[in-house]
Amino acid sequence: MNKSDCLCRVCSSTISDIFDFGNMPIANNLMPVINDTYTKNEYKYNMKIGVCINCSSLQIVNVPEKELMFNNQYAYFASQSEFMKSHFEKLGNKVMQLMDKEKDYILEIGSNDGIFLKYFADKQYKHLGVDASENVVETAKKNGVNALCSFFDEETSIEINNKYGKAKIIVITNTMHHIENCQEVAKGINNILAEDGTLIIEDPYLLDMYKIGSIEQVYAEHNFIWSLHSYKTLFEKHSIKLFDVEHFDTHGGSMRYYFSKQNLNKTSTMQEYINLELNNKIFDINTFIKFQENCINISKELYNFVVSKSKEGKIIAGYGATAKSATTLNYSNIDKNLISCIYDSTPFKIGKYTPGTHIEIKDAKLFTKDSPDYTILFAWNHKKEIIEKEKNNKSKTIWVEYIPKLKLTYEN
Ligand SMILES: [Zn+2]
Repeated sequence: MNKSDCLCRVCSSTISDIFDFGNMPIANNLMPVINDTYTKNEYKYNMKIGVCINCSSLQIVNVPEKELMFNNQYAYFASQSEFMKSHFEKLGNKVMQLMDKEKDYILEIGSNDGIFLKYFADKQYKHLGVDASENVVETAKKNGVNALCSFFDEETSIEINNKYGKAKIIVITNTMHHIENCQEVAKGINNILAEDGTLIIEDPYLLDMYKIGSIEQVYAEHNFIWSLHSYKTLFEKHSIKLFDVEHFDTHGGSMRYYFSKQNLNKTSTMQEYINLELNNKIFDINTFIKFQENCINISKELYNFVVSKSKEGKIIAGYGATAKSATTLNYSNIDKNLISCIYDSTPFKIGKYTPGTHIEIKDAKLFTKDSPDYTILFAWNHKKEIIEKEKNNKSKTIWVEYIPKLKLTYEN
């Protein structure tokens, strides 16, 4: 275990390198065509992750330029998942109860296509969304959501404060772990959160990632995997205190964190998770070494399976061209020579090719007709939704799951 030259972006301690993935593409950079020029010019960087044993945060050591990741080609439109829509609706109802409709407003950082703020827009609540990707901001505006295209930092927070004043609620879902300069964001939040306001953050959770042994939460856009301890360390420096948490199964295990500038009583759930993190030894480097070994085994198992079925002449496809799967495919060396295509229902992705591994993305409507012998479930966090849909379509395949270990499900 080498000490990295890099300092922890949360607490400035030296971080320990735990994983070198080699050359990786940007997970969301789907390729429009495959030819020599595109292949030669495909951007790759040496992806390494490290862990800070002082504050227990997992982070990418060398992050590519953020403009390469969040631009007008950003491929994730949150509204396309029915499950996520219902998840956000519940949060919306909860948040509305904390707001005075006449005077308060809600700010969402990383508002994507407006999936969450649309509930507020429809009910005439004051709201503002900030997102760095033009194409998703345009979609949000078309949905009637008030949105601004910008990276959220201290400067943006001053502009917003001048125009809208302090926010009663700040929501950041599945975004904070994308942001490299977390100190800037915390400073900005400190500027703009009302004294009696609530900050709500939701992110993939470190302990879940550790438990399922998945490296998939780590790709260039995911700069951090957070824990209660690491978030506490970050925000306490900026006088913002964690007082409650809620755990969900979304995105392979997520935690929702509640913060305030006031000294509110800490809930028993929060204490429970603080203890759980300590019991799981998140300040011990051996925990992360074990995690690394587990990830390597999963990757080898999947590669060996695909190679052996390919030699038997079987057709192997994938389901869900997710950003997460880019890590597995590239790290496991599973490319277009081993996998026929990946089915997906997102119009933006159909007809393009996966980054680095150049596998064609086909319309999920073709899945029933094609009926591949084996289908690797890359969108494993939407397993129930997908398998049920394809069962109703009478699709025939053998589903292959690989996390936490290889498992086959026969649907004939
Ligand atoms: Zn740290």
